[in-house]
Amino acid sequence: MKDMFCFQCEQTAKGTGCEVSGVCGKTPPVADLQDKLVGACIGLAKAVKKTAATEATDACIKKALFTTVTNVSFDEESLKIMVDCVDKMKAELDPAAVDYDMAKLWDDNEDIRSLKTLILLGVKGVAAYAHHAAILGYKDPIVDAFFYEALDAVGSDLGMGELLPLVLKTGEINLACMALLDKANTETYGTPVPTEVPLTIEKGPFIIITGHDLHDLKLLLEQTEG
Ligand code: SF4
Repeated sequence: MKDMFCFQCEQTAKGTGCEVSGVCGKTPPVADLQDKLVGACIGLAKAVKKTAATEATDACIKKALFTTVTNVSFDEESLKIMVDCVDKMKAELDPAAVDYDMAKLWDDNEDIRSLKTLILLGVKGVAAYAHHAAILGYKDPIVDAFFYEALDAVGSDLGMGELLPLVLKTGEINLACMALLDKANTETYGTPVPTEVPLTIEKGPFIIITGHDLHDLKLLLEQTEG
């Protein structure tokens, strides 16, 4: 019996999957909560399919998927709050909608699991870009609609013939979303230009920044000015 299962990044244990604890530091309870969160998002996608998406469901599904990307959040309390939030939204749209059990995906036939995982991990990445673009006020309804289509497919009994086109569409949507984030960033902060930076090692303390959240970076620079 595995303590957890996650194989979503290149650090994954033995190149096959983290099953005892995450190489990244993710614990089994966090992995379980992230699975619950994705399962709740699949339930929400099914509820939206029966009713209609709203600005609130769009924002919620982007934030929730982004939260499950590697190293974004290992905080159990905030993950529980997010699961409750997605579940509440889902119940308001369709009281009969149920969360998807991610164990079904991890234990599925390997071809189906591979295709569904390509779609799922793909939309997690798209959600990160779309979430950051939305913070700057930029959205693309085609990108937003795809989250529901993709998650509904992951939680449905589909064959390779139906999943393969969705894998390709995930790539197309990802490209569109990268263009959206680029537009959001360049229209908000200007076109990046090569800039000389000092390479001398100063005495700490330091704040090390990675990633593509330019809005957070701006806030941080403002707060540490001087
Ligand atoms: S995200 Fe963490 S737990 Fe998942 S595969 Fe990567 S290292 Fe392992």
